This record gives sequence, structure tokens and C-alpha cells, in this order.
Amino acid sequence: MTAGSPLLQASNLHTWFELRQWGFLRVGSVRAVDGVNFALARGESVAFVGESGCGKSSLARTLLGLHRPTRGEVTFDGEELSTLKGKARQRYLARVGYVQQDPFGALPPFMDVRRLLNEPLIIHGVRDPAAREERIRRVLEEVRLTRVDEILSKFPHMLSGGQQQRIVIARALLLEPAMIIADEPVSMLDASVRVEILNLLRNIQRERELTLAFITHDLSTVRHFADRIFVMYAGRIVEQAPVDELLDHPQHPYTQSLLAAIADVDADNALEERDVPGGEPPSLLNPPPGCRFHPRCPKAIAGTCDVREPPRFAPREGHYSDCWLHDERHGS
Ligand code: SF4
Repeated sequence: MTAGSPLLQASNLHTWFELRQWGFLRVGSVRAVDGVNFALARGESVAFVGESGCGKSSLARTLLGLHRPTRGEVTFDGEELSTLKGKARQRYLARVGYVQQDPFGALPPFMDVRRLLNEPLIIHGVRDPAAREERIRRVLEEVRLTRVDEILSKFPHMLSGGQQQRIVIARALLLEPAMIIADEPVSMLDASVRVEILNLLRNIQRERELTLAFITHDLSTVRHFADRIFVMYAGRIVEQAPVDELLDHPQHPYTQSLLAAIADVDADNALEERDVPGGEPPSLLNPPPGCRFHPRCPKAIAGTCDVREPPRFAPREGHYSDCWLHDERHGS
């Protein structure tokens, strides 16, 4: 692979889940990821943003190989994910670290920190106990957990939420990954530690030159974090641009609604969320025809938006938006 080739690429990616009644009667498919394309460069930090149920966590799990794509493919360093088996798959999992939303749920409750950090190293063939101990201590310092001896002997329930999430980040870093996928990494933490954890992730990403895919519902957290933003709605990417360009010149009405819904960061740095006006996101079992945002869109064009899917337009350089308003026949 050349230095300029993407580290990870998703092409026409679909992840659908069959829904059955009484265990056998097929009711339909939940189109959690429905035709997504993007490429992530080495060392790039991107954010996938959207409301709950827009498909961003299903996308994260598909990139991790936890869901098999229904259609399309994911390639990592030139290798297609669904073809990786056995050792090749294990190598992939070592190269992509995962930081989950719920740190307590992510940590086995019956293992102390030393054991739960030793385990991935043993699975991935680091046999020398001294080498494992050295790597564990180095990574605990990297996630700013001081008093390492004390931390190593603790069980997850003895740690604060912020400490638990630092352990999850340490575990993701242990195997020297090229990429981290962080799925809502601060949404279950106290407001007081969210900014600390976000800053920690950002610093580690920059120092290690990692590719970072940050999944969040909260556009207010991404300006100092991401190089590029992908806005997702109903299983699709509807707008994408470099971070300042997208936040300063949002083009898609859904992104404009998300931005309008962000509360200011208050004095405690607590990040609050308001509902996006115009009702709930659509069912992914039966998404609306035309533009999927049209039932909620204040700018919907009757006879067009409710009938025809908008293609991708580039209303500004490097800025893409799937919206009929950019079609010169409708004016912007
Ligand atoms: Fe709104 Fe139409 Fe644009 Fe969809 S295509 S976001 S309904 S204006």
C-alpha cells in the first residue's frame, strides 16, 4: 500500500437486519446502513454524526467486523474485511482498537485491571510476562492513570466512570493499532470528565498519528477533534466536509437542524443536547420515499423531495450534500 492510499474504505456498504415475527415470518429488513461510501486516510480524524438510530453504531460495528455487510465491502490496508479469516482476522482486530460507549459494560467485572490488560496481549502472542507488564504500564501512563500499582489491582467496579473509560482506551492501544473506532465514548460519563476524555483521545490520536473514527450524536464536540465530518441520517451519509467548513457553512437542512439544536457549552463544560425540531427520525424498516428527511424538513420541495432521492451535489469546494436545494432548477 502506498502512503497516499486510504487506510480504510467503505464502498456501497449496506448492513441490513432481517426482522422476523414469531421467529420465522419475515417482516422486512431494518436498513441500518444503507449505501455508504467513504475513505479514511492514515492519521486522519473523522466524526460520524447523527441522532440515535441513524445507523452510526451499526456502521462502527460493521467496520469492526462484528456485523457482516449485506452488500458492498470494507477494505482495510487494501484487504477486504469479509475475506479475513483466522490469523488474518486476528491481525485486523489488533490493528483496529474499539472504545465502546459503556466502559463498565466493556470491562469483564471478574478480572482485575492487570488481568484484563494482560489478556489481549496473551491472545495476540506476547508471551513474555515482563514485556507484557512493561507495555501495560507504558499505556496506563499514556492514558494518564497515575498510581499504576494501585490501579492494576483494582476491579472495574472499584474505578470511577472516567477511570474505566481510560482503561478501555488503554486496552484499545495495547496492540499498537493503526486506527481507533470510538463509539460515543463520553456519552455515559459525568459531564465533568467528558472534556478530559475527549482531550485525551485527541492527544493520543495526534501523538500516535492514528486514524480515528469518532461516532457521536453531538456536533458540539467535534470542532477541535475531527478533520472531517460525515453527517448521517436514516442509514446514509447526507453531508460531508472538512470540520470548519461544515460547521461554518452547513448546507444540508438536517445538519442545519442539528446545529440549531446544540446547546452552548455551559460554565461546567457540560454538553447538553436538545431535540432536533420536526419530530422523530424515520423507521429504518420502512424509510420514507424520496429524501428520507422530507417529512421533517422545513425546506422540502413538494413533488420533488417526497418522490425522488436527491443525488450528491458539491455546493462548495470539498463539501458534499445530498439535497435538491443545490439543484440549479430549484435554486439554493
Ligand atoms: Fe429537505 Fe428536500 Fe433537501 Fe431533503 S432534499 S433535505 S427534503 S430540501
